[in-house]
Amino acid sequence: MHFRILDDSMKQSFDLHCHTTASDGTLTPEELVEHAYQNQVYTVAITDHDTCAGISEAVEKGKEYNITVIPGIEISVDFNPGTMHICGYYIDPQNKYFQKRITDVQNARNNRNPQIIQKLNESGINITLDEVRHESGKDHIGRPHFAQVLHKKGYVTSVSEAFNKYLAKGSCCYVHRKRLGIPEAIELIHKAHGIAVLAHPNQLGLSSWEEYKKWFIYLKELGIDGIEIFSSCHSKRESEHFKSFADELNLLTTGGSDFHGTNKPEAHLGVFGDNNTINIKELIEQMKKQRNLYTIVT
Ligand code: AMP
Ligand code: ZN
Ligand code: FE
Ligand code: FE
Repeated sequence: MHFRILDDSMKQSFDLHCHTTASDGTLTPEELVEHAYQNQVYTVAITDHDTCAGISEAVEKGKEYNITVIPGIEISVDFNPGTMHICGYYIDPQNKYFQKRITDVQNARNNRNPQIIQKLNESGINITLDEVRHESGKDHIGRPHFAQVLHKKGYVTSVSEAFNKYLAKGSCCYVHRKRLGIPEAIELIHKAHGIAVLAHPNQLGLSSWEEYKKWFIYLKELGIDGIEIFSSCHSKRESEHFKSFADELNLLTTGGSDFHGTNKPEAHLGVFGDNNTINIKELIEQMKKQRNLYTIVT
C-alpha cells in the first residue's frame, strides 16, 4: 500500500481517530500500529464504527512497538441536517451492557445493507451483497465497502464520487438506519467507563457559527466531555472556531485524522491541521481523570 510521503512539520505524534479493517479502514489493527510506528505517531486511538473488534489486536501490537493504543469506538447518532458521530475513548470493550447495546446497533447496520443493494440494483447497477461482503472481508459492512465495489466495477472513478452519486445522505441510494439518540450514545459511553467526544463537528452541516455554539452548549448539557477540534476534514478557520467554543465551555479538545487507509486516501495518519496546541500526555491524563467521574454499569 502506498501513502504520500509527508513533510514532518505536518504530522502530529498522535492520532485519536483511526479506523481499521474491523470497520471500514483498509489496514488491519496490527498494520495500523506498524504504520503508526513508521510515521512516528506514538499514540493512536482505535475508533472503529460501532465495534471494538480491532482493539485487542492493536493493543497487543502496540506493546511490541511501544505505541500507546487507546481503546475507542465511533458511534453514529440520529442527527439532521448533516451527520453526528461521537467517539468514546477508554471504554471497556468487555462491558456487558455496552456489548448488548452495540450489538443492537450492528444489527440495524446489517438490516440496512440489503436495502442499499436493492436501491443500487434499481438504479441499474449490477452489484451483490456478496461482492460487498468480500470487499469488507469481515462482519462489518460500511458504505465505503459499497463505494470500493462501485469503483472497482467502473461505475465511478473514485470513492468520493460513489458517495456523491449514490451513497451519501441525500443521494439516490442512501438508506437511513436506526441510530442511537444523542443522549443515549453519551450515556452508553459513560456507562462503559469511557469519555464522549464529538467527532469532526463540521460534518454536522450547520449553517452558522452561532448554530455550532448552540449545539456545543446542548451537548455539554447532555454530558459530552470533549470536542475533536482538529480533523483532516476541518479547515483552519473551522478548527479555530471549534477550539474557542470548546475552551469557553471547558470541554476537552482532541484531534485525529479519521484515518481509513485507502478508503479515505486524503486522510493521513497523524495529519489533522497545523496545530501544536495539544499536549498528548496532558490530554491522556485529563481523559483518564474525566472517566473516573462516571459510574460503570455492567
Ligand atoms: P456507514 O458506517 O456505513 O454509515 O459509513 C460511514 C462512513 O462512510 C464514514 O465514516 C466515512 O468513512 C464514509 N463517508 C461518509 N460520507 C462520505 C462521503 N461523502 N465521502 C466519502 N466517504 C464518506
Ligand atoms: Zn468510516
Ligand atoms: Fe466519523
Ligand atoms: Fe471516523
